[in-house]
Amino acid sequence: MTRGSDIDVLVAGGGAFGLWTALACLRRGLRVAIADPGRIGAAGASLTPTGALAPHQPGRPTALKTLQARALAALPETLAALEAETGRRLGHARPGRLSILPDAAARERAEARLPALRAAQGEACAILAPGDWPAGWLEAPAAQFDPRTARLDAPRLLAALRAACEARGARMLDGAALLNLAPGPEGFALSTGPLRAGRLALATGAAAFAAAGLPGGPEHGQAARLALRAPPGAPLIMGRGLWIVPHADGTVGVGATAEKGRADLGLDAQLESVIDRARALCPVLREAPVLSRWAGLRPRAASRDPVVGPLPDRPHVIVVGGGQRIGLALAPACGEAAAAFLAEAPPPDWPDAFLPSAHLAARAPA
Ligand SMILES: Cc1cc2nc3c(=O)[nH]c(=O)nc-3n(C[C@H](O)[C@H](O)[C@H](O)COP(=O)(O)OP(=O)(O)OC[C@H]3O[C@@H](n4cnc5c(N)ncnc54)[C@H](O)[C@@H]3O)c2cc1C
Repeated sequence: MTRGSDIDVLVAGGGAFGLWTALACLRRGLRVAIADPGRIGAAGASLTPTGALAPHQPGRPTALKTLQARALAALPETLAALEAETGRRLGHARPGRLSILPDAAARERAEARLPALRAAQGEACAILAPGDWPAGWLEAPAAQFDPRTARLDAPRLLAALRAACEARGARMLDGAALLNLAPGPEGFALSTGPLRAGRLALATGAAAFAAAGLPGGPEHGQAARLALRAPPGAPLIMGRGLWIVPHADGTVGVGATAEKGRADLGLDAQLESVIDRARALCPVLREAPVLSRWAGLRPRAASRDPVVGPLPDRPHVIVVGGGQRIGLALAPACGEAAAAFLAEAPPPDWPDAFLPSAHLAARAPA
C-alpha cells in the first residue's frame, strides 16, 4: 500500500488479463491506472491471430474445466456488452469446430466418444464427411463437429478493452514498465517514475511468474494471419498442433507452435511448417497470401491452472494470469475475480487451486 494515493489499483500489464481486470475494477468504481512497457492493448500474447474459444473435451471434471465452461458460457453476453459499450465489433461468432479424423482408427475412437460429447455439448455434435462442410474448406476423410467452439478477433478485443477503460477514466501509462512489486515511499516504481496506488494487479503475462516467484513461465508460440474470405459459416478447423480460424474481416488465423520455456519473440521455420500443413488441409488457403507472422509468450503455470489471488507474502499484490492456451476465454472471469480481490471482497467460490498460495505449495518439496 502506498499512502496518499489517488489511484486505488495499478494494473501492470495491458494484455487481456490486465485489461479485463482494469475494466472490472472501473465498473466497481475503483480508480485505476494501467502500465505497460509497450502500448496498452497492443503488446503481448493476447494479440494472437488465432482467437479460438473452444470447450474442453468431456472427461473427469477439474476446477479448470469448470471455470472454462463457465467462462465460455458467459462470453457471448460479456462480449456483447463490451461491443455495446464501445460501439466496436469484436469479430465474435460461434461457427463450431471440425476436429480432423485422419484415419479409420481415429474415426472409430470419435464414434465411441460421441454420446459423451453430445451429452456435454449438445445433439448437434456429429461425425461429418466431405460434402458436409463448405467445398474446398477441409481435405480430410472425416471430422468430428462440435457446435460450441467460437472465435474472436483478439487485436480488436484488446483495442475495445482499451477504449472502454479509457472512457471510464483509467490512467493509461503506455511505455511504463513495473520495476518492483514492493512500493517505496513514493509509490510503485515504474520505468517512467513512481506512482502511488493502493494495490497492484500483476498481469504481466509470462513475465509474472519470475516477478512473483511462482512456478511457471513462458511457452513460446508462433501463428500467422492469411488473407482469405472463408466460405460463409465455415467452422474452425483443429488438427494435431494446428488451428485454422476464419475471421469476419476476410482473414484466417493459422497456428500455432508451442515451445515450453522459450522466452524470445523470434520467428522460425516451425511456423512455415504450420502454414504448409494448414494449406495442405485447407485447399482454399493454398493461394492465400500471408499478411503477418507473429510470436507470443503464453503464460503457463507449472500446474497449467490460472493464477488469481493475493501473493501470500505481499497481500497488496493480486496476481492475475496463467491463461496458457485458453487465456482469451478465461480472462474475463479471471479479471472479475481479480477485481473482487482488489476490492477486498474475495469471490466466495474461487477455487483454492487457483490461488498463488496453492501454486507455491504445489512446488514446495514435501
Ligand atoms: C501463438 C499463440 C496462440 C494462442 N491462441 C490462443 C487461442 O486461440 N485462444 C485462446 O484463448 N488463447 C490463445 N493463446 C493464449 C492467450 O493469448 C494467452 O493465454 C493470453 O492472451 C494471456 O494474456 P495476458 O494478459 O496474461 O498476457 P499478455 O497478453 O502477454 O499481456 C501481458 C502484458 O504485460 C506487459 N508487461 C510485461 N512486463 C511488464 C512489466 N514489467 N510492467 C508492466 N507490463 C508488463 C506486456 O507488455 C504485455 O502487454 C495463444 C497464445 C499464443 C502465443
